[in-house]
Amino acid sequence: MTNMKPKALLIDLDGTLYHGKRRIEGADQWIQELQALHIPYLFVTNNSSRTPEDVAAHLLDMGIPAVKEDVYTSAIAAAQYVKEHYPIGVSVAVIGEYGLEEALKEVGVEITEENPEIVVQGIDRAFDYGKLAKAVNWIRNGASYILTNPDLLLPSDTGIMPGAGTLSAAIQAATQTEPLVMGKPSNIIMRYALSRINCEPQDAIVVGDNPLTDLRAGQAAGCDTILVLTGLATSDNMDVLLEQAGVKPYCVCKDLYEAAAVTTGRCSQ
Ligand SMILES: [Mg+2]
Repeated sequence: MTNMKPKALLIDLDGTLYHGKRRIEGADQWIQELQALHIPYLFVTNNSSRTPEDVAAHLLDMGIPAVKEDVYTSAIAAAQYVKEHYPIGVSVAVIGEYGLEEALKEVGVEITEENPEIVVQGIDRAFDYGKLAKAVNWIRNGASYILTNPDLLLPSDTGIMPGAGTLSAAIQAATQTEPLVMGKPSNIIMRYALSRINCEPQDAIVVGDNPLTDLRAGQAAGCDTILVLTGLATSDNMDVLLEQAGVKPYCVCKDLYEAAAVTTGRCSQ
């Protein structure tokens, strides 16, 4: 393949630029190089628990340049979706954390537990039987059900933890209702991220470590994709994961130095 003209980048975070609190080698130089070359990019994460400010601060702590405008979360996508599809002031119940509540407040919804028209659910580490019962009754009474992200498991510093998708499985079992999913592998988060940077799908590449979420969402949005072997996918399991995801990436990069070279047009693959 010939050297490609640098395209805009939609970059995953956990497993791609860092693991928990640890920066992945080369992440800082890569982002600095993108800035120096004025290559547009956005960090796109399924994590709905943090605000874009929090995510940017976390990146900065690890030496990766970031401001809140660089960050697009599944919580922001959910808020954007509600804003576009419902009247201003629509009543919304939140099963989720601070980042989700803040995103929804910012688009002017009424957050309530009284007959909500929409239930928006994300990761909620204070989820319990009472919250499950409320969500089930709201949805059974006709509220729409929006899910920030369907991840069943989350890597954390203390091991694998249940994700928003696992909480959703309980709600789905009791309501027999499928949620509308905002985050990867849905293309909704990617379409909104593209529009945030004023970019057409064919002019963007989605970069991530998970073929089943990052690459699938990228392909579904009409973007090229790059797999980095910095997290979930490894040289041993990537063929199986790519086949499972039904995705053919533009290329596979073994580390972020290679990703930097390819995405800045310094070398081809
Ligand atoms: Mg990841």
